[in-house]
Amino acid sequence: MGLTGLEIYKLLPKTNTGDCGFPTCLAFAMAVAAGKINQEKCPHLSPEARETLEAAAAPPMRLVRIGPEQTPVLVGNETELFRHDKRFNNQCAIAVEVADTEDMPAFLQDFSALTFERVGQRYSVDLAALRCTSGDAGRFREAAVLLRNSAGKPLVLISEDVSIMAAALPVLVGDRPLLCAATPQNYRDMTELAQKNGCPLVVRAKSLTELSDLTEKIVRLGHRELLLDSGSRETAAVLADLTQLRRAAVRKRYQPFAYPAMAFASATEPLAEIVQSIVFLSKYASLIVLKARQPAQVLPLLTWRANLYSDPQKPIQVEPKVVAVGAVSPASPVYVTTNFSLTFFIVESEVANSKIPAYILPVNTEGTSVLTSWAAGKLTGAAIYKALQENGLESRVNHKTLVLPGYVAVLSGSTQEATGWKVLVGPREASGIAKFARENFR
Ligand code: SF4
Repeated sequence: MGLTGLEIYKLLPKTNTGDCGFPTCLAFAMAVAAGKINQEKCPHLSPEARETLEAAAAPPMRLVRIGPEQTPVLVGNETELFRHDKRFNNQCAIAVEVADTEDMPAFLQDFSALTFERVGQRYSVDLAALRCTSGDAGRFREAAVLLRNSAGKPLVLISEDVSIMAAALPVLVGDRPLLCAATPQNYRDMTELAQKNGCPLVVRAKSLTELSDLTEKIVRLGHRELLLDSGSRETAAVLADLTQLRRAAVRKRYQPFAYPAMAFASATEPLAEIVQSIVFLSKYASLIVLKARQPAQVLPLLTWRANLYSDPQKPIQVEPKVVAVGAVSPASPVYVTTNFSLTFFIVESEVANSKIPAYILPVNTEGTSVLTSWAAGKLTGAAIYKALQENGLESRVNHKTLVLPGYVAVLSGSTQEATGWKVLVGPREASGIAKFARENFR
């Protein structure tokens, strides 16, 4: 809600009927301004007041769905300029581009390799983008069907030729591809096509002023599932445009720019293209289309995205379940750590390096690290006892010895007392685990 309590109050009937559950209109206005209640609770609003309040309550950037109803890629709905102010809501989507004149099976083979498992997270590109370079509607349609059937991701269709786009859409019913793009020249027909097929649409112009005008025209035609493309392709110009678009949407609530923005990586060399994409992803693209398609090129971009779009209020954590590393036996050692994912995966990697099979018990500390959780009273003897019980460690091993992280050696006594297990104090740093294991468990 962008209005103050007094601004909202001025729009209310001021009759104090109490029908909203508040004794006065002023009390209701204050509650609406604080986001505690929706303006719809007042049944006496005039149509004009309702419209003004709904517009003020709308998010500064529209949420746009690309792809089938059941498995769409969501972009937009951002409310912040900086992640640390709250969070970014929908990560920037990554589309890999292929031309309809290319070797499609070879592309599909490359594309299928762009999914990665890393530190317990699954990273993947989100869309396949098909560009019409053949100028042949039949060829474009065939390539679109092949991609739809084999890529397993929603599509972006790139052509400013309305007849080519129109030829492909009948065979993609229900797929809701992103149509790219409506321009000042084709916007009426392209908008009609997007509306008829329920597809989101890219609005492309040659300047921000032209983009603002064009977006308003398309909205007046009744289509609001839009992404913005300023038309710039040079890195600094794209960055400037993306920044202005986000500022105008979030800070100024400028309605023509209240849509997610997209960017095309234009560098010809793949690694330069990735660096360019990282710039756009950081500020403030909601969708990037690029041509790089080798895993070693794309993984850094996905890793960057994972870091940027994590919720700063929610530590990344693993399930607090015991994990067996290697061919464990009842004699295998038990390492205690926390369920902060970074800590857990470092410990897991070092235990694997030690070549001595072991159990790792990640205590549920709500994703906080060893020292933080100890300081917050989350990593305690009682918590370790609870984790041992819940994971049935007594029935898995034929001993009662656990290894505590060296940083919380101070917990040895209370842990021994709470669990009845003997405590070995392990190394402070995970890098010392291999040496520690060799000395204690060979
Ligand atoms: S229902 Fe509407 S008019 Fe009645 S008190 Fe609440 S805000 Fe005022």
